[in-house]
Amino acid sequence: MSKIAVVGASLAGLRAAEALRREGFEGRLALIGDEPHLPYTRPPLSKEMLSKEWDEQSVALTTMPDLEGIDIDVRLGSAAQSLDVEGRSVTLADGTAVDFEGLVIATGARARSLPNTDQLDGVLTLRGLDDARRIREAFDSRPDRVVVCGAGFIGAEVAASARAAGLEVTMVEMAPVPFERILGPRLGEMLADLQIQHGVDLRTGVGIERIEGDGRAERVILMDGSSIPTDLVVVGIGVTPNTDWLEGSGLHIEDGVVCDATCAAAPGIVAAGDVARWPNEMFGGELMRVEHWENAVQQAAHAAATLLAGDGGGSPFAPVPWFWSDQFDLTIQLAGRTRADDEVVILEGPTDDGALVALFGRQERLVGVFGINRARQVMQHRRLISEGIGWDEALSLARSAESK
Ligand code: FAD
Ligand code: NAP
Repeated sequence: MSKIAVVGASLAGLRAAEALRREGFEGRLALIGDEPHLPYTRPPLSKEMLSKEWDEQSVALTTMPDLEGIDIDVRLGSAAQSLDVEGRSVTLADGTAVDFEGLVIATGARARSLPNTDQLDGVLTLRGLDDARRIREAFDSRPDRVVVCGAGFIGAEVAASARAAGLEVTMVEMAPVPFERILGPRLGEMLADLQIQHGVDLRTGVGIERIEGDGRAERVILMDGSSIPTDLVVVGIGVTPNTDWLEGSGLHIEDGVVCDATCAAAPGIVAAGDVARWPNEMFGGELMRVEHWENAVQQAAHAAATLLAGDGGGSPFAPVPWFWSDQFDLTIQLAGRTRADDEVVILEGPTDDGALVALFGRQERLVGVFGINRARQVMQHRRLISEGIGWDEALSLARSAESK
């Protein structure tokens, strides 16, 4: 293979390009991104960037000299618009074409927005550096109240940052319990209580009907008819995978780029990160798309190896997914693949300082571990999940460790 194009110049794209060079690829390597920025890391955008502990330089993942040092042809500020699989070419928005023999698709996902709010100032989503800058400036203008729409990851972290900045926050969540779908009702309630204890006015089981205002947000009307005066709404209601540019390419697109177990989407074409959906053999071949940082890093390296191995030469990508989320002074972690109807056993906590460890079992197997300020236990159980430990054995092991 003499030329590879990587589309998406963020975490997965950069890590894939670096891995290709590390693994000995010496041909032409292009990294194509639609943002004007060099690759940067997103987790601090809802945390350290909003609390001003970090500035914009701190989120950089690389520098131009570093990229030039490994001979990467960086093309920023121009989106890939279409893919010709047969002709082995990507067309960019600036009209140029990049031809390739191997392709890495790493175009991630974009924030969903609330309908009919495009024309209103003061209604913001958070995905990129420029979004974080806008929210930070809005915090600086000391709004009377921030309304956070959605109590998922963005919602919970932005609410925590806004409270840390001394702002009043109302959080609106359609589901009856935040995070219920992945954690079940009991742990979801605990995370809801965490928000409430920190002064967030949490409204669950209700959606936003509309946002009213003359040119800018002035009040949010909920579906139960209540009205919340506000001049800043931050919307965190999930993401849409960036696959529009692949329409008509013949690749299988269904809530992401559907790949095989090795991350191959077609001969000589792989995908990684938030945009990729693949059957994870660690969890019985469940087709999954993981929207978290570590997965983008690991899958990028794996997809690069699959590409270099040639058709049919890759190995299955079968990780135990893991993520962290910082909310207030707590670090929350989840490893595994959990669902609301899993059996949940709380091994420890919540302690006075909020620490907790819980295990998730399904079909006689340990499938997940959730921890608050308990990184060591999460990592120990993550290893046990990867070893395929049974549910009863995991519980008795944990209890015997507890009694020592
Ligand atoms: P992305 O980061 O979405 O990058 C895709 C890139 O491709 C973007 O630059 C995009 O603009 C570009 N692109 C899209 N379409 C095109 C196109 N047609 N042509 C060219 N370029 C294109 N995860 C955690 O585990 N822990 C955390 O604490 C955490 N915090 C987060 C906080 C925030 C605010 C956000 C937004 C995410 C957070 N995440 C966290 C999730 C994590 O950042 C993502 O999983 C990760 O960024 C995925 O990387 P990616 O490269 O696959 O996709
Ligand atoms: P998310 O985690 O999917 O959460 C979205 C939340 O909004 C869900 O609880 C959803 O409820 C709710 N919702 C959906 N539509 C709504 C509506 N109209 N009104 C009110 N609530 C609504 O997505 P996100 O928080 O927007 O995060 C975006 C992306 O960034 C995700 O990929 C996430 O993984 C990533 N991220 C990760 C971290 C982390 O790992 N620490 C931190 C920040 C961001 P339902 O579940 O009922 O649909």
